[in-house]
Amino acid sequence: MGRFPGKTGYISSPTFSCQELTADGSLVVLRMTTKATSDARAMDGEAQGDDQQLDTQLRPRTLQEYVGQEQVKANLSIFIAAAQQRKEPIEHVLLYGPPGLGKTTLAHIVAREMQAPIKVTSGPAIERAGDLAAILTNLEPGSVLFIDEIHRLNKVIEEVLYPAMEEYALDLVIGKGPSARTLRLELPRFTLVGATTRYHLLSGPLRNRFGATYRLNFYDLPEMVKIVQRSAQLLGIKLEPEAVELVARRSRATPRIANRLLKRVRDYAQVKEAGSGTAAVAKAALDQLQVDPLGLDDLDRQILSTIIEKFKGGPVGVNSIAAALQEEEGTIEEIYEPYLMQLGFLARTPRGRVATELAYRHLGLEVPVSAQAKMV
Ligand code: ADP
Repeated sequence: MGRFPGKTGYISSPTFSCQELTADGSLVVLRMTTKATSDARAMDGEAQGDDQQLDTQLRPRTLQEYVGQEQVKANLSIFIAAAQQRKEPIEHVLLYGPPGLGKTTLAHIVAREMQAPIKVTSGPAIERAGDLAAILTNLEPGSVLFIDEIHRLNKVIEEVLYPAMEEYALDLVIGKGPSARTLRLELPRFTLVGATTRYHLLSGPLRNRFGATYRLNFYDLPEMVKIVQRSAQLLGIKLEPEAVELVARRSRATPRIANRLLKRVRDYAQVKEAGSGTAAVAKAALDQLQVDPLGLDDLDRQILSTIIEKFKGGPVGVNSIAAALQEEEGTIEEIYEPYLMQLGFLARTPRGRVATELAYRHLGLEVPVSAQAKMV
């Protein structure tokens, strides 16, 4: 495994408990149970089994290397510099946004800039209060604790986290019934970096305990071009500028997907075209994956056509869309809808999801007169 741990697929099942990266960069895996998601879609931004290595290999190490998200970077660097001047760890940071946009990467960068060790875990991997206690009491002073999918922490554990975040203390209950007593353990000062794809699922008290909250946005085309160029160079893939742009355009404005598509283009070029990195080869490779010029895959198109054909363009609840497609509601909401909304193909209204005129046009369908009225 590389210098920095990547993510393991744990959408449908927890796969690891805690990975620790020490200040010298060596990785210690504290506890591991594996069950990677086999549902490997080319276009969802979630980390899948084989992404872990790719993520690790391509992860920018510094804020300078990290492309885009200029506002977040500017705020974070002031936050870090100020804490460094005071010789204190930075306050807790919450990062949110769709999968694959660089939350884990930023957490590692924060630790690196603070020259602090980082411990990596995730909400679903912390099953008992004791798991969290073990992680917290083993932190080195000044460490960064990264909790991915923090919205999936269970409530009991969340309550253990509150005093830990606020007062750097752990309240343990010893014994049961009338003889139970609380024991307060002092913890080293640490910085919690939480990441979530579903900010609205985070409880108010947890949100309020973060000193800074940053939202990561989808990347624009010039940024995606830079990311594809950088990744291609690191992977030793020679691509013509038109091929770089083509991959960038089809990556759903998401770096993890760009990296994944790049690898597929490389494989295709190697097997079918003797390594040629032309736009025609990139196009053929991505067409084979059924990724369209806007980066939509089969399920994106099915979501839109279901709303249009089965539900007269909407409004329709996400649960009905999920049932019609036999997909998980969370997958649609978390992975597919943000990009469809970013493209302006889908609108969320108080009464449900509505397909927009642009969606009809993209699918080559006639726009009914009623479609515009529904957008209100
Ligand atoms: P998230 O935690 O939001 O799901 P990650 O931080 O794991 O996303 O990012 C996935 C991969 O995408 C990283 O390994 C890295 O290669 C790439 N990446 C993410 N953000 C950037 C960025 N701003 N610049 C360059 N590459 C990036």
